[in-house]
Amino acid sequence: MKVLLAEDDDYLFAALSMALQRRGYNVEAVKTGTEAQAALLTNVFDILLLDLGLPGLDGTKVLAELRSRGEVMPVIIMTARDGLEDRIEGLDLGANDYLVKPFDFRELEARMRAALRKSHWGNKVEMEVGPLRLNTNSGVLLLNDKELDLTPKETTVLKTLMARAGRVVSKRQIMNQVSDWVEESSENAVEIVVHRLRKKLEFSKVAITTVRGFGYLLAEE
Ligand code: CA
Repeated sequence: MKVLLAEDDDYLFAALSMALQRRGYNVEAVKTGTEAQAALLTNVFDILLLDLGLPGLDGTKVLAELRSRGEVMPVIIMTARDGLEDRIEGLDLGANDYLVKPFDFRELEARMRAALRKSHWGNKVEMEVGPLRLNTNSGVLLLNDKELDLTPKETTVLKTLMARAGRVVSKRQIMNQVSDWVEESSENAVEIVVHRLRKKLEFSKVAITTVRGFGYLLAEE
């Protein structure tokens, strides 16, 4: 479970990072809105814990930008007691929930669980092929209910293959999904990513087959 924490208060930054890590969350923590935005553009997270009063770029701007890109990941905003206007604005901008500081860590965890459940039901983000389940929103891949670690490129390739499971997908179709692959080396890059994915799917009941001259096919064995 990957969490992005955006909080500029030193104490909360350290306390929340530590508490979340101790509870088994994979946490990336940043102190400015600019860093939060950069992290959201480069990584996939299951949930965002967002302080609204952030230096660099305001939390409401980070949230507005995230939603304008069509991102449906759950967001919990954290505001000061007197920040009623902020809270309303945050909810209007698409936050799923809010917490008023100071809050109890157990309450944060409960809200996180609720937000994650809602996002699970509210948005069709699960794709399934045999023992393989992908949360297309967070990029979290479960194989036999165990989380596997995927890079963003591996996620994109697997998503493309899963969306067309049982059918052949050409390298060109895969490349079209990844905008930043350099043209000359992209066929090779696809092969490398597929090779790595195969290793991660080894010994499971689902496999990626090469269809010579055409592309790849993901199917349950
Ligand atoms: Ca703050």
